[in-house]
Amino acid sequence: MSKRDYYEVLGVDKSSPADVIKKAYRKKAMKFHPDKNPDDKAAEDKFKEAAEAYEVLSSPEKKAQYDRFGHSSFGGAGGAGGGGFHDASDIFENFSDIFGDIFGGGQAGGFGGGGARSRGRATPRPRRGSDLRYHLELSFLESFEGVKKEIEFEVEEDCTECKGSGIEKGKKPVTCGTCSGSGQVIQRQGFFTMATTCPACKGAGQIVKDPCKRCKGQKRVNRTKKLNVTVPAGVETGTQVRMSSEGDGGHLGGGAGDLYVALRVLKDPKFMREGLDLVTKVEVTYLQAILGATFETESLNSKVILEVPEGTQPGDEIRLKKKGFSAHRGGGVGDLVYRVKVLIPKKISGDESKLLKEIALTKGEEVKEKSGWFS
Ligand SMILES: [Zn+2]
Ligand SMILES: [Zn+2]
Repeated sequence: MSKRDYYEVLGVDKSSPADVIKKAYRKKAMKFHPDKNPDDKAAEDKFKEAAEAYEVLSSPEKKAQYDRFGHSSFGGAGGAGGGGFHDASDIFENFSDIFGDIFGGGQAGGFGGGGARSRGRATPRPRRGSDLRYHLELSFLESFEGVKKEIEFEVEEDCTECKGSGIEKGKKPVTCGTCSGSGQVIQRQGFFTMATTCPACKGAGQIVKDPCKRCKGQKRVNRTKKLNVTVPAGVETGTQVRMSSEGDGGHLGGGAGDLYVALRVLKDPKFMREGLDLVTKVEVTYLQAILGATFETESLNSKVILEVPEGTQPGDEIRLKKKGFSAHRGGGVGDLVYRVKVLIPKKISGDESKLLKEIALTKGEEVKEKSGWFS
């Protein structure tokens, strides 16, 4: 499903200040509000679209992320930490300040009885657990070959003792006396009456007299989790391995979040990666460079036979096809590349010097007569 640009949705641009964005959103929210457009699916979609756009553009961090990476920064609809509202009451809950301005307060009258509908008792609803990110370091060799690693991390999940209710087994919450269970209290200010969230029960309408002993009424507990991560061959720093439903547990039957294992590959002193190629240096003597040679040398995880052709120049590359990195996604295998360094000796024996001078003589080349002042 392709998504419209958030700026386009609200009719603002990147440089619009926060209050302009807020105003633009209020206008859209008024226009497409479900109370004004009963049973109008198109209006409801527009309402949700505007809310999603505003959720991102009203947060400086999310806006900056969106400006840089677009929709993909939130992993699509409802993805990793991203927007995506499922029903209208989510929207009211998220932007209660704005809806308070528009629909609440009783000043404007506006949309009659229902008004801001989520203002009533806040019944607990299932909620998906958060996505988590784990940073995993790999050696260069592990990134080349792939590896299985055990990781350990903390997840938050519903307390198993009270199943996420926060209430001791067998006990029941009692109706809040302050609001008689409605979750809100009416306040009078001059001519106006205002409904606000009940301070005693925080809108729940009920009070827990016997909190669960295990979670102390917190509903959620932390647990250490161990997991085996299979890292495929060919990954790089920045590659993420997604492990579905291994993040925080859902609340009241909501699904678990995902775990993203973010990889960082350490450097190797001898080998490096260029695209899919595995690159290193090899030293050859000047004689091997001129005459050619075949010898055994090291690769990252094995020995290879390297053929140095005649007339090899310093900096030349010798490629062993398809012995580099394999792409962890999609096809393709890189090469193993040896960059040649030719060693010119700083000192040679008298015999070697004599032979080389003879060669120079036959080629008619001007060379130094003596190898040193005192020889
Ligand atoms: Zn109450
Ligand atoms: Zn509990």
